[in-house]
Parts: sequence; structure tokens; C-alpha cells
Amino acid sequence: MTPLLFRHEAILAPLGSGSRGNCTFVGDERRGVLVDCGLSTKQILLRLEAAGLGDVQIDGVLITHEHADHVASARVLSDRLLRRQGQQVPFFMTRGTASAVRSRSRPARLELIRAGQRFKVGHFEIEPFTIPHDTCDPVAYVIRVGDTDVAVITDLGRSTRLVERQLGRCALALVEFNHDLEMLLEGPYPWALKQRVRGPHGHLSNAQAARLIENGASSRLEHLMLAHLSEDNNRPDRALRAAEAALLRAGLRGVSVATAPQDRPAEPRRVCSPRTFESERATDVRSRRVRQPEQPDDAARQVRLFA
Ligand SMILES: [Zn+2]
Ligand SMILES: [Zn+2]
Repeated sequence: MTPLLFRHEAILAPLGSGSRGNCTFVGDERRGVLVDCGLSTKQILLRLEAAGLGDVQIDGVLITHEHADHVASARVLSDRLLRRQGQQVPFFMTRGTASAVRSRSRPARLELIRAGQRFKVGHFEIEPFTIPHDTCDPVAYVIRVGDTDVAVITDLGRSTRLVERQLGRCALALVEFNHDLEMLLEGPYPWALKQRVRGPHGHLSNAQAARLIENGASSRLEHLMLAHLSEDNNRPDRALRAAEAALLRAGLRGVSVATAPQDRPAEPRRVCSPRTFESERATDVRSRRVRQPEQPDDAARQVRLFA
């Protein structure tokens, strides 16, 4: 029998990114997970719709750490997803994070995870890994969608070999480019807050994030989203320049780079991996990924949605 070619598509869709709330969809056309829920539930659902993902099933919500810009809507979202999908959706977080989440934000179904221990959510394999941030046991995530690894790495004061290694697996990555050091030092923050942000458990500067890209990203990388940009201490053009220079130094050409905005969803990034199916048994052919063909109608629609 001639095998049928079926393209499994991995999607990375930041719905909002920054200190006023973070939430990112990772999955495929039909289902996926949310990483963090620091936007209001209403905004999360509206922005999924605006990103063309209004019908996806949410199989789980992965929480990185207990800061309000990452977990504030957990309770309300948990109730809303129950009504939307007819069952309790699990929220995953480390024990440290769970102990620090305020009781009014706690979701109805909370599942404890450990950094370094993989787990499954629906048909997605998830790997949480430790990052340095001033909270109780924070993590970042790599999510496997089909044959594609997708990273969501924000809120870390410095990079580590572990973070670089995880980024190296990924074709889609959302990485924190929080501040421009010069802007931070000359900017409006009080001295103590400046020290916290630039400290080893604060946030990545453009230069630190660029080094992470240079050392960690591999030729697998197709789309890079710059995230958690400070509205006071950074500018998208500075972050983009730093990222593009890092990719160039790493010899990685053809990677699309964009910033994830705070107040609206970014255009979803997609990577296709071909798979063949013989009769009813799926056979993973481990083929080379191919880029999704251009779809002019879709492109035009995206321009309208994200203008
Ligand atoms: Zn944050
Ligand atoms: Zn944080």
C-alpha cells in the first residue's frame, strides 16, 4: 500500500508576553497546552480566537513559577475550561510553585511535577527544567509536538548549560529578552529593583539572551520569538538586533525572529514534520522537517488580525 503523507504541525503562539501577563499556546491545530496564565481568562480565550486557535482543546496548563504575571488567572481559567470542555483541565507546577501560589489563584486540579522528570499531557511529552529565578523551584519547558520540540524559556537571571542544551533540541523557541542593560541602568526603576532585575535570579538582558542563542541554538531552529520585553527598559529593535547578531555569529541563517507583544497575540509560528501512515499503523519516518508552503490567503488574514 502506498503510504499517505501526513504533515503534523507544531504551533507556537504567544498570546501576551511581559510583566503585565504571560500566556503561550503550544500544540497543533486541534489541541495543545498553555504555558502560564498571567493574562485574564477572557483575554486568553479572545486571543486564542484572534490567533485562529479558537477551537483548540486545551489539554493542560503548565505553570513556570508563582509570580502573578504567570499564574494570576489559574483559578478562573480552571473553572472556565471546565465549562468549555466538560472536564477539569490539569494545571502542572512544581511543589515549590504550588506552595507559593496564593489560595485564591489555585486551580481546581493541580498536578505536581519535578524539574527534570518528563511527563505526558494528552499526546504531548513535556520536559520541565530548572531555571534560576527568585521564586520557589521555577522551571522552563520543552514540549514535544509530533517530531518537533518547542521551548518556552522566560524569567531567568542567567543562562546555564542545561538551558542551552534544551534550546539546542528545538525548532520553535520563545526566549526571554527582558531588558537592555544600558536602558535599565539609566531608566526609572529604583536602585534595588534594578539590582534584582539584573541579578543572577532576575531576568535575562538582551546581551545575556543573545549569548544563550549563540551557545545553545542549533540548525534545528526555525522560529525564534523574543519574549517578556520590559516596556520601560527595552525596545523591540534593540532586542531584535541582539538576537539577529547572535544567530549570525552562530552561523544560523534563515531563522525567523520576531518579538512577542504584551497587549496582543503574536502571529503563530508553525513547523511541519512529515509522517507517513501505512494502513492504520502510524510509522514515524523521522524524515527531514519541511517548511510549510506559503499560503497567501492565510498570510493576508494574519496581517489583518495582527496589524
Ligand atoms: Zn514574568
Ligand atoms: Zn518571574
